Amino acid sequence: MSLTIQEALQRASFQLRQTSLAQPRREAEALLCAAIGKSLAWVYAHGEEIMPDKAVDIFTRWVQRRGSGEPYAYLCGEREFLGLPFTVTPAVLIPRPETELLVEAVVQQLQNIKSPRILDVGVGSGAIAVSLATLLPQATITAVDIDPAALSVAAQNAKRHQVDARIRFLQGDLYAPVASEEFTAVVSNPPYIPTAEIVRLDATVKDYEPRRALDGGPDGLTFYRRLAGELSTLAAPPSLLAFEIGEGQGSAIINLCHSVGYKNTCQISDLAGIARIILAEQREMETA
Ligand code: GLN
Repeated sequence: MSLTIQEALQRASFQLRQTSLAQPRREAEALLCAAIGKSLAWVYAHGEEIMPDKAVDIFTRWVQRRGSGEPYAYLCGEREFLGLPFTVTPAVLIPRPETELLVEAVVQQLQNIKSPRILDVGVGSGAIAVSLATLLPQATITAVDIDPAALSVAAQNAKRHQVDARIRFLQGDLYAPVASEEFTAVVSNPPYIPTAEIVRLDATVKDYEPRRALDGGPDGLTFYRRLAGELSTLAAPPSLLAFEIGEGQGSAIINLCHSVGYKNTCQISDLAGIARIILAEQREMETA
């Protein structure tokens, strides 16, 4: 059956209105744009055109899957982070806006340092490592992940943004692949959701995103304990630690940083006033 672009859009928004999605029309528009590879302005200017059968097939399948709760980013295979498009697959967490705050804070701390060596623990999609490499052209980055599938997505993104020459990808658990190496900064957005709270997350998160990237153990702090406690396996303590954190975890993580010698700490909050980022330095630190 041939459908015009406008008819396909109307049909999809009607279908998505029967689901619990908050913005069915917007969702349908975004999927349609991705399915035909055109902008929304183009879609509205060409509403009378017949949609190619192949695009109708893809679009119909995507609308069905989106309606069942699958995240848009996994359907289209892409999510923007700090203005850069990142390839994403279900092997990696979809980059979140709060993580942009982490990158911005690290850039601010390291921009005047000559050749910073940055370690990103749990690189996932590479959103942090790749955008740091882009924004800090003097930096070299080591990206570690336990999951080879995540590393391959991150490596793809590094290539896509032409920073692959400055990012080394290593598979392994936390600091194990970089034992006895030295870094200027350790950056991480580790899994931080307490195990028992995972069932309460939105279905689009808990049913689709990798549990291993979310589950922070009984109190959500398992990885911060290890990130702090295992610093002694590196050649020297890095000058800067920068972590994304879960809601309400700030003081526990600051205490962990203090306990391993990082006296100067600060928290950065998102627009809702929730502390999202912890920076910890051994020296005095410049804050925004
Ligand atoms: N921010 C993510 C969420 O709330 C969790 C990310 C993480 O555990 N590092 O879904």
